[in-house]
Amino acid sequence: MKAVFITGHGGNEVVTVGERPMPERRRGDVLVRMKAATLNRVDLYMRDSGAGITHQLPQTMGLDGAGIVEEVDADEPLLTPGQPVVLHPGLSCGRCEFCLRGQGVLCTSVRYLGEHRDGTLAEFVSLPASNVFPKPKALDWAEAAAIGVNHLTAWRMLFTRAQLQPWETVLIFGVGGGVSLAALQLVKMAGATAIVTSRDDDKLQRALALGADHAVNGAQEDIARRVLALTGGRGVDVVFENVGAAVWSSAMKSLVRGGRLVTCGATTGDQPGADLRRLFIRQLQVMGSTLGNLSEFRDLLQVCERGLIRPVIDRRYGLDDAHAALDRLESGAQFGKVAIEIA
Ligand SMILES: [Zn+2]
Repeated sequence: MKAVFITGHGGNEVVTVGERPMPERRRGDVLVRMKAATLNRVDLYMRDSGAGITHQLPQTMGLDGAGIVEEVDADEPLLTPGQPVVLHPGLSCGRCEFCLRGQGVLCTSVRYLGEHRDGTLAEFVSLPASNVFPKPKALDWAEAAAIGVNHLTAWRMLFTRAQLQPWETVLIFGVGGGVSLAALQLVKMAGATAIVTSRDDDKLQRALALGADHAVNGAQEDIARRVLALTGGRGVDVVFENVGAAVWSSAMKSLVRGGRLVTCGATTGDQPGADLRRLFIRQLQVMGSTLGNLSEFRDLLQVCERGLIRPVIDRRYGLDDAHAALDRLESGAQFGKVAIEIA
């Protein structure tokens, strides 16, 4: 079968579009004929380094995806051949302390598609039935694929971790990236107020068109000062962050007393000053988050089924154009998800 896979670590020259063996479907697994996937920053990380993530080369890239059930156990109760499905990329063990508490997202031996094992940039993927969900009809293939990482991550950050309420205000850093745009959509769905930042006026205009209440250009303005002005000197209830060191100080200064900062990334560095005095005097909370549980994915799929959320697709590429798609993601020029359409 055709797939996009890495044969080493480095730039795009280690990425090959070519033949890989068909995955073997084991009992309990579903063989999915892939229709679309979208790229995530971790795809660039796996291509360039993969350090700290146990994996074997060659490895097929891609975390999220949507497709059609090709083959499934005859006694599988929920899925049938020919059914459109969307994939949850985290394969948890089901038996560790955390899995037993229903927190598969904390599983001590979790394996992610495209990180610890072959991923979704392929004509076929085989994975446990528990990770395969009916595709929301309101979304096309690429849109459905897009919710599996970014929207799921943003959902857990906002609703499970930060416990966002409709009357609150959220500051979202770096709008334009997939997870930040997902956050904007979810914040507005929840009825809360969204302030977004970017260094690109065009992206800010597009975010305003998508419902952002205020836009701050971080290249031209002091973000914390502007946020305080926009909130009557109060600060925001929640900061949604995945930029890291470059914005950490602004993020901490933008929070109201007792406010919550939730982060899922550190693109610009992972060792900012902690600002401990501000943390304890103003009684702030700093929370980390990664992806989401199967139950959170199910909840997200319900709102997608009702048409409340439609991911923004930046550009669509074919499998053969994977190099150009990776370049597009790496450029940072995208607004929304870079999608790969497979069939
Ligand atoms: Zn586990």
